[in-house]
Amino acid sequence: MPKYVGAVDSGTTSTRFMLFDHSGSVVAYDQQEHEQIFPRSGWVEHDPLEIWQRTQQVIRNTLAKAQIQPQEIAAIGITNQRETTVIWDRQTGQPIHNAIVWQDTRTDRICQEMERGGHRDRFYHGTGLPLATYFSGPKIRWMLENVPDARARAEAGELLFGNIDTWLIWNLTGGQHVTDPTNASRTMLMDLRRLEWDEELLAILDIPRAMLPEIRPSSDPGIYGLTRPDGPFGAAIPVCGDLGDQQAATVGQTCFDPGEAKNTYGTGCFMLLNTGTEIVHSRNGLLTTVCYKMGDAPAVYALEGSIAMAGATIQWLRDNLGLIQDAAETEAIGQSVPDTGGCYFVPAFSGLFAPYWRSDARGVIVGLTRYTNKAHIVRAALEAICYQTREVLDAMNADSGVPLQRLKVDGGATVNNFLMQLQADILGTEVVRPKVRETTSLGAAYAAGLAVGFWEDLDALRANWQQDRSWQPQLDEARRAKGYAGWKKAVERTFGWASEDT
Ligand code: ADP
Repeated sequence: MPKYVGAVDSGTTSTRFMLFDHSGSVVAYDQQEHEQIFPRSGWVEHDPLEIWQRTQQVIRNTLAKAQIQPQEIAAIGITNQRETTVIWDRQTGQPIHNAIVWQDTRTDRICQEMERGGHRDRFYHGTGLPLATYFSGPKIRWMLENVPDARARAEAGELLFGNIDTWLIWNLTGGQHVTDPTNASRTMLMDLRRLEWDEELLAILDIPRAMLPEIRPSSDPGIYGLTRPDGPFGAAIPVCGDLGDQQAATVGQTCFDPGEAKNTYGTGCFMLLNTGTEIVHSRNGLLTTVCYKMGDAPAVYALEGSIAMAGATIQWLRDNLGLIQDAAETEAIGQSVPDTGGCYFVPAFSGLFAPYWRSDARGVIVGLTRYTNKAHIVRAALEAICYQTREVLDAMNADSGVPLQRLKVDGGATVNNFLMQLQADILGTEVVRPKVRETTSLGAAYAAGLAVGFWEDLDALRANWQQDRSWQPQLDEARRAKGYAGWKKAVERTFGWASEDT
């Protein structure tokens, strides 16, 4: 009997491979970063071949560390940075362009064209998404318009589109071209109800149907394909789980009941609230998205608050300003001052996502005086993560009508205990961290393991969830309200800064 399930977790900054046992504990893993390519202001790219190389390396390294035979792995799940767009040649496997990353704003003009064409409502009602540079559809259109011969080749059926999940499954299985509804729900091309590509939206964006992958369940007993024996596993293992990273974290946190929510603190911050089999359209700037589809069971939906810059703000302090050497330092530096001295940092580097959806916003640091020092700015960066989360939680509470009692958290930045206390204080809500922090990888493993019967049902997964630590709000209500009012004022200062080309 196989003892493990594997998850490929290809995030915005790095790719991991993790092996989990039946209790949902990590048995072994390896992780490697890939290059962030910034060709121009507002543009962000990755090299898809580098991501595939890293994926193969982390799989090989993990197997070597764990000293196990591939036959001991029951199934493989994939989870990925969503929306990031790859187009490649069906015959050669060569990408026609670097991947255009979700944070990239080059498709602003295409989105404006859609707006002027009066298509906003059609996209919103069909896909649950606002017209924003974030999603894949406009990125596909940009490549078709800007890469020589791309349109003709796409129309001739020579090119394939995929998000990173599809790209990796295609490479791992030697040619299965599939995705799942969670990833497809971020393309602006999928009908949210029918879970099929929407021909009318494809026509509006002028994207050939032949490029698109088949949409299969997130956990698929029918199996997407077997890993190639000459690939990094050296064996044929079923690939049968696929979830976008934020949906995977929701599954990893076992938020299976309507009303349960999690927030993940990685490059960005992403809060998802399970709304059950019902599609809830937000009145407050949230997205409606597919949460998961397990086998034949009806799809479960979620409301999502997406924040573009969270942990990436800390990286920016390190890499662009040199204020810190390591993200972990922010914990001690942030605590070394009692407050930010009135300073606010709104990291609207690629516009503001939820709940504003303003591509004309750019980052500001306001309230500076001669008293302000490095610690205040570091603390303001941490607080920015928490205030952005507060705005999203407020929107969720307003949309659902039921205030959330406690927030389950995960992701790389949740190792920072000071950040977690700040979060509880700024929200006025309990914050809870699970023992297994790698909930994104775990969710992908769960999807794959359910498909092959490694785990019996959702209750078996719920039983694996264990609390590590929780934080209670300690700030009094008056200070909380004052701080939040200052933040709102700072956010207003970011609006209308960017012109069309910046
Ligand atoms: P992703 O999956 O989006 O690549 P991770 O979940 O691996 O991201 O989290 C990495 C992010 O967390 C980075 O942006 C990093 O700056 C941030 N981070 C890591 N450790 C800390 C810390 N101690 N305090 C604050 N932020 C941190």
